[in-house]
Amino acid sequence: MQHSDILSRFGLTSSTGAGLTARSPVDGATLATVAETDPALVPDLVANAARAFEAWRTVPAPRRGELVRLLGEELRAAKEDLGRLVSLEAGKIYQEGLGEVQEMIDICDFAVGLSRQLYGLTIASERPGHAMRETWHPTGPCLVISAFNFPVAVWSWNAALALVCGDPVIWKPSEKTPLTAAACQVIFERAVARFGDAPAHLNQVVQGGRAVGEALVAHPGLPIVSATGSTRMGREVAKLVAERFGRSILELGGNNAMIVAPSADLDMALRAILFSAVGTCGQRCTTLRRLIVHKDVAPTLLLRLKAAYASVPIGSPLESGVLMGPLVDSDAFAAMQTALTKAKAEGGVVTGGERTLTDRFPNGYYVTPAIVEMPGQTDVVRHETFAPILYVLTYETLEEAIALQNGVPQGLSSCIFSTDLREAERFLSAAGSDCGIANVNIGPSGAEIGGAFGGEKETGGGRESGSDAWKAYMRRQTATVNYSAALPLAQGIKFDL
Ligand code: NAD
Repeated sequence: MQHSDILSRFGLTSSTGAGLTARSPVDGATLATVAETDPALVPDLVANAARAFEAWRTVPAPRRGELVRLLGEELRAAKEDLGRLVSLEAGKIYQEGLGEVQEMIDICDFAVGLSRQLYGLTIASERPGHAMRETWHPTGPCLVISAFNFPVAVWSWNAALALVCGDPVIWKPSEKTPLTAAACQVIFERAVARFGDAPAHLNQVVQGGRAVGEALVAHPGLPIVSATGSTRMGREVAKLVAERFGRSILELGGNNAMIVAPSADLDMALRAILFSAVGTCGQRCTTLRRLIVHKDVAPTLLLRLKAAYASVPIGSPLESGVLMGPLVDSDAFAAMQTALTKAKAEGGVVTGGERTLTDRFPNGYYVTPAIVEMPGQTDVVRHETFAPILYVLTYETLEEAIALQNGVPQGLSSCIFSTDLREAERFLSAAGSDCGIANVNIGPSGAEIGGAFGGEKETGGGRESGSDAWKAYMRRQTATVNYSAALPLAQGIKFDL
């Protein structure tokens, strides 16, 4: 299928104005030029969202859920087209593009159920003839900033919840993936048209980079800022939002590890390592970056891993059978090479990591995945490089392995492969992994939407998606009603004239 055919499925053309250039990591080709939003327009966009909020917050939550149900239906209908566009614009293999759209459908289903379950509490009052309750109300417009590597799912995790919670959304996607965002807006508008009486501007897409992002983040009319991206970005955003007492939901960098214990099922561990270290060309926030292997199993596992790495099919992510597509751009390739050079200087032994397929794709950045055997957890290992580099460390005791796992600034995802119940439970205990996600006999990537997603430390502390993550999109009101004819004060205080 031609690039232009995929765009036309969403009524998009190869030029909507000057500003951003959408290029495909597949071959470096320009897909389209997209009009960039002028930061001077931010106050108008926020005013639109404020008007939408006034109307939307009074629509009953189950009715708001109906809009998200329709969005889920439209996403089902557009799954293949959107999955292909994700593949084309972000460079992930088509299967993963489809998986990303499925994740959007799943969160819509979750949010529809949630729209009838935004439960508060009734609380026993200490005063006679009084009732206390806690209610969750819509908060206001929610700003969503997303990264290139999950160009559509991150929007849906936030938007599906925010919309049922009564909050309109302003979405600033990555400047590297403007087309998938434009396509999502088209899909959203299809749902709005079927819904019938939704207020205008429930979801607005702002195209551009850091400048327009900063203008949005600084605006006091956006009480919730959900930002996904690098720790560098999160540090800047968090400061600005805190200054105006807004609420941040931060989903930042990860440096995810797997501990492989002596009792591990090595066949399973091997498959899990491959998917989570090589999948999406190492460009997932939950990508496996550190393999912490018991010294007794390390030689066998490494031998098998190197053989498996050598047979990973690398190529155009749009072709079937390919498991590893390209890096997003030349900057990502340069960052990978810098990390590998540093790793060597710090005592690492590197296998793989070279550029490949340059004949076929001179402007695409394809690499072989790298395994780096490290003498210890040096500086480069503690840093997130967004590329398929797997650092291998060895350990002797579980305490040592857990200390290595926790000994990095990031705290997103972690896992242990072990068939020893004691080890597995220790890993999950309060003295075990310090990450937001901790798995047993499952790799660190590929979370389901039903659980809360996010991580600690430099990963930012935010939670999105399932469980009670919805509470971050609502404001809590504690209300006490006096249905007696007296006015007793709490704590028995006497204050009578
Ligand atoms: P990035 O930080 O370069 O950009 C992310 C987004 O932030 C983009 O939309 C960008 O325009 C915007 N931005 C950058 N600086 C800004 C600023 N000062 N103010 C407002 N907006 C700003 O990240 P990227 O390269 O697109 O994505 C890769 C990073 O994202 C990795 O670190 C990865 O781990 C992380 N990530 C985290 C999660 C998670 O859930 N924890 C998910 C996906 C990606």
